[in-house]
Amino acid sequence: MAKYDYDLFVIGGGSGGVRAGRLSASLGKRVGIAEEYRFGGTCVIRGCVPKKLFVYASQFSEHFEDAAGYGWTVPEPRFDWPTLIANKDREIARLEGLYRHGLDKAGADIFDTRAELVDRHTIRLLSQDRTVTAERILLANGGHPNPHASLPGHELCISSNEAFHLAELPKAIAIAGGGYIAVEFANIFHGLGVETTLVYRGKEILNRFDDDLRHRLHEMMEKKGIRILCQSIFERVHRAPDGRLHAKLSDGGTLVVDQVMLALGRVPNTEGLGLEAAGVETGKTGEIVVDEYSRTNVDNIWAIGDVTNRVPLTPVAIHEAMCFVETVFKGNPTSPDFDTIATAVFSQPEIGTVGLTEEVAAKKFDELEIYSASFRPMRHTLAGRDEKMLMKLVVDAKSRKVLGAHILGPDAGETAQLLAIPIKAGLTKDDFDRTMAVHPTMAEELVTMYAPTFRVKDGERVD
Ligand code: NDP
Repeated sequence: MAKYDYDLFVIGGGSGGVRAGRLSASLGKRVGIAEEYRFGGTCVIRGCVPKKLFVYASQFSEHFEDAAGYGWTVPEPRFDWPTLIANKDREIARLEGLYRHGLDKAGADIFDTRAELVDRHTIRLLSQDRTVTAERILLANGGHPNPHASLPGHELCISSNEAFHLAELPKAIAIAGGGYIAVEFANIFHGLGVETTLVYRGKEILNRFDDDLRHRLHEMMEKKGIRILCQSIFERVHRAPDGRLHAKLSDGGTLVVDQVMLALGRVPNTEGLGLEAAGVETGKTGEIVVDEYSRTNVDNIWAIGDVTNRVPLTPVAIHEAMCFVETVFKGNPTSPDFDTIATAVFSQPEIGTVGLTEEVAAKKFDELEIYSASFRPMRHTLAGRDEKMLMKLVVDAKSRKVLGAHILGPDAGETAQLLAIPIKAGLTKDDFDRTMAVHPTMAEELVTMYAPTFRVKDGERVD
């Protein structure tokens, strides 16, 4: 008889956990997987997927406006929030079903319960009030929005979790943060007709992205009518007798809104997980500390995804899961490759980016060539939309290697995905130059910027 109930027990049914569980089970391993909320995890249930559906919903207001320039007469459009929520919920339920089906088909045992470690081989399944044992354990239980408990009135605020289920669309919202979630939701709510204010502590939104794109996006968002207050934070939130929320700002002002949303980063889900009982080490932000193969300090316990707070992105968690299976069950030690990860911010317009920003590259390379193009996408011409696309390539002058590509404009995320291939492959600007353009497209600019717009020498821009 086997010493343990399972060869592998996975805690967390998100992108990483499901991939690892499904692949391991399909290799014939005895796999158990527990999820306390819904299979699919943050990305599918209350993150990337419903967010993108909301982005599409919010873009229609501009599509209706733009249609007039192309000869269409659109009757006064009306938006119904409950319809969007119901349709989104139906789609998310369908996707959750697919995740469960995949696990089931591969032969994994599925547990709809919170699971906690009792010791290094034992897991308590809370809703079933029993324990199971496993030779190996994979912790893939994600993170949650930072509740910002030091903010008086934080309990009156929502996070992205609740934003997906609001009973009604607010008339006015204030959003704290300047990262992915704050910027994406500011554009979503604005597009749906909500009076939107973004409050960010830093000088410019989207820290760590290329400066030119940050400034341009900021300008465009303001031009659309989103209010952006930088170098400001909420000091207190309280509910007035009329039911509205008053958010007091550090500059002395007060925003009166129907909802306050906090998008101030995410925290690994390690509290109460039984890590001490199992002897698993955590780091400064509560994250599970792992080695290059995602193994914790306890040699039969691994961790992947947001709970390790390495690169908190869905494709990264999936990649870590596949490396885990290679390493542990296929005898092929494989460490995740975190180099040159493309990413998109689904702002409006969108940001797509891969590789080094000009600012980071300038610190690492003696001389850079920067190729930059700013133009009005053809689609905006008849529409009369005064919005310019921005594309930028960062090139090492010596090796000619393209170090980074940064795009602001329609479908920038799609373009960044494709640019990730040549940049990951280490191709040079000359390879870009000898690539024939696809005409007429926006992306053709990427292979027709023949002369540098400017150079960066010893960290300074020069002509
Ligand atoms: P981010 O790390 O992107 O942004 C957090 C923001 O909160 C930053 O602007 C940060 O400021 C600010 N902040 C943090 N603490 C405080 C504080 N105490 N007071 C005031 N401001 C504060 O996190 P998000 O919550 O937006 O998203 C979480 C993660 O989810 C992202 O890092 C990303 O990996 C992932 N994600 C990816 C998406 C995508 O791929 N499109 C979409 C959504 C999320 P500062 O910049 O100054 O540190």
